Amino acid sequence: MSLLVVGSVAFDGIESPYGKVDRTIGGAATYFSVAASFFTPVHLVGIVGDDFTDVDTKIFKGRKIDIEGLERAPGKSFFWAGKYSENLNDRTTLTTELNVFADFKPKLPEKYRKSKFVFLANIAPDLQRDVLQQVAKRPKIAALDTMNYWIEGSNADLLKTLKGVDILMINDSETRQLSNEHNLLRAAKRIFKLGPSTLIIKRGEYGAMMVDKRGAFCVPAFPLEEPHDPTGAGDSFAGGFMGYLASVGNKSDMSLRRAMVYGSVMGSFTVEKFGLDRLKTLKTSEIHARARHFAKLTQFTL
Ligand code: AMP
Repeated sequence: MSLLVVGSVAFDGIESPYGKVDRTIGGAATYFSVAASFFTPVHLVGIVGDDFTDVDTKIFKGRKIDIEGLERAPGKSFFWAGKYSENLNDRTTLTTELNVFADFKPKLPEKYRKSKFVFLANIAPDLQRDVLQQVAKRPKIAALDTMNYWIEGSNADLLKTLKGVDILMINDSETRQLSNEHNLLRAAKRIFKLGPSTLIIKRGEYGAMMVDKRGAFCVPAFPLEEPHDPTGAGDSFAGGFMGYLASVGNKSDMSLRRAMVYGSVMGSFTVEKFGLDRLKTLKTSEIHARARHFAKLTQFTL
């Protein structure tokens, strides 16, 4: 089943202890689409400026990513720059320039409107809501990611958008910020009152936790000796998670648990190299091999 995503398609500047790039293709929807396309066809909604050339578009070519919904407008593409701490756990945003996203009015191509799986990747909450409202029927799963920039700057809009969402997928500091609660299980209870019935908390090198009314399920992050750049790891996690769910077409408890593992697998590949470099060369066989490795990693008897 195809999967609809709206979010940033961007140029990023990245500085980590392992190197620095001034301008490379990035954006939440870009990482998400590339990761998800290993599992299922993706329909992408977003906007780029006239600085986004045919060479840049190549990242989507030869993959199951439909870019009819990727608008081109005069002006500059979204630009974001960030810097990582020595241990890669903390990130400081240096620049966020919305550019063409500031006046974006998404219009879904007809074939996108039937989507059963929808991911509202990190972008302005009113744009996320606009896209969700254009989907003909309530999707089987609508999931949303956001970040401190929108929690602080567009809080009322975000709360409106959350009402129509099943799964919220954010990191631990965003969970605490949105819920005003330090303990993550108590934070989940507060977040359930805002709309979502499932909360997925991405915890970087500590893995990810899914919380719903039944309880919590945790996956570790894949242990890597040489992580290089965490940019896009959260979006790749989301791509693996939603891509897997759309490929199986259901949201049973076991499918959600397996989706958590595929999310973690995709996030782990992304951090192995800078930007999208690792996903560009990734093979499906490597994804399944790592998923099997995950099963071993967490297996034990009592
Ligand atoms: P992640 O590392 O998974 O949190 O996502 C990194 C990506 O998010 C980068 O490629 C950025 O282009 C994109 N990004 C950063 N800030 C924002 C924002 N405020 N809105 C939308 N996308 C953003």
